[in-house]
Amino acid sequence: MSWEAVIGLETHVELSTRSKMFCGCPARFDAPPNTNVCPVCLGLPGALPVPNREAINRIIRIGLALNCSVTGRSVFHRKNYFYADLPKNYQISQFDLPVCVDGYLDVGGDHPGRVGIERVHQEEDTGKSTHMGGDGRISAAEYSLLDFNRSGVPLVEIVTRPDIRSAAQARAYAQELRLLVEALGVSDARLEEGSIRFDANVSVRPGPEAPLGTKVEIKNMNSFRSLERAVAFEIGRQTACLDGGERIVMETRHWDEEAGVTRGGRTKEGSSDYRYFPDPDLVPLELDQDWKDEMAALLPELPARRRSRYEGMGIDPAQAATLAGADVHLRGLFEGAVEAGARPQQAGNWVSGEVVAALRSSGRESLADSPLSGPNLARLLAMVEDSTLSGLAAREVLAGVLAGEGTPEEVASARDLLQISDAGVLEAAVEEVTADHTEEFARLCSGEQKLIGFFVGQVMRRTRGKADPKLAGRLIRERAGL
Ligand code: ADP
Ligand code: ZN
Ligand code: MG
Repeated sequence: MSWEAVIGLETHVELSTRSKMFCGCPARFDAPPNTNVCPVCLGLPGALPVPNREAINRIIRIGLALNCSVTGRSVFHRKNYFYADLPKNYQISQFDLPVCVDGYLDVGGDHPGRVGIERVHQEEDTGKSTHMGGDGRISAAEYSLLDFNRSGVPLVEIVTRPDIRSAAQARAYAQELRLLVEALGVSDARLEEGSIRFDANVSVRPGPEAPLGTKVEIKNMNSFRSLERAVAFEIGRQTACLDGGERIVMETRHWDEEAGVTRGGRTKEGSSDYRYFPDPDLVPLELDQDWKDEMAALLPELPARRRSRYEGMGIDPAQAATLAGADVHLRGLFEGAVEAGARPQQAGNWVSGEVVAALRSSGRESLADSPLSGPNLARLLAMVEDSTLSGLAAREVLAGVLAGEGTPEEVASARDLLQISDAGVLEAAVEEVTADHTEEFARLCSGEQKLIGFFVGQVMRRTRGKADPKLAGRLIRERAGL
């Protein structure tokens, strides 16, 4: 029997606001443990929460970028459960009136499709437990350490509709969403640091018309690769179960990266287990049109639009995607070079190839404050186009410009890299190498064409790599009467 996979993703995005969601503590948790805390985020009796306006600004922008409608009135609920890193014994979250509803995100590439966004809601992060002794898992721990620096950090949850149909498409959605969040500048959006985290809901069914199957929720995937692997594994596990006549149990499973399997844990809580009720300490948010308009005006160019703009310049789709995902300085360099007259495809190849390589070997982290400007790059590429510089020499000039040695012209002449495309100068070199290799030259003259390469190589050697190889080839051919 063939089965269709159905996947929905829940994504948590930690906002990079200066302060926490409901108190004034710094929202950074790289500080020494339990230093960024106060009565509110420690859940002490009588402490009262005050919403962070900047966090609300940011969730509105996330919702708008995801084509959601932003509700006029939004309510915070208490989601009740007990855990040691949740000092209030409830998390402030949202239930039936989230800030944003009903949007979508288009996924392109090899797994195109429109993924519906059911809701985007505002909540707060928990503290962080570190289980000590044993293998780091709670089951084998001797004791646990608690750090509340993360407690109360603004967290936005983005919930899709069950519209995703393969593990690869789940990954493509997650990557597109990360790009979007990064472009919005609302979060560090780093998977390794947990500032963006994905949970996957997976079920299978006999075909597109069949009702949805029982779903399993998978947690604990901290890379795009493990997200894709975990979903693929789970699809295989469920189809094998069903083919074997078993039934799927609704549960939460954990991805074990090393073993490459999902493992069952607790059975899934229903929402009634959480006893949601409106937080009496917080008034509803009134999100009026002016506020939404103000946020809409702050939206930057989003990745999908940037990709199609780059494709419109005549760049191939893969290159456009690479460039659109590059950091702001590299993109600025690319756009500046094109503005100064460089051919877009050539400029794009250089920015994502040679420039990135040169940056890496220069030890610089980024192009911020670097002397390599768009006009400089355009001039360098023009020198390659008109054969003033060989490709190899151009790379050296690039390194020199990056090191602050001057404009491309200055670096090229200071480092003696200008290509010899003066026919008179090259003529002399050709004469010398043919005189040095009379036997080969005689063979060339009698029609042994493959010796052209040999002579061009000799000319390059004699000119220490600076001859224009095309011109050298032509002169050799002329001299041999070919
Ligand atoms: P829960 O009550 O478990 O939180 P929701 O209905 O709120 O479930 O959905 C949570 C996520 O699971 C959403 O992303 C949704 O698209 C997805 N989902 C719901 N039903 C299914 C299903 N049968 N198969 C796969 N994903 C599903
Ligand atoms: Zn606090
Ligand atoms: Mg739910």
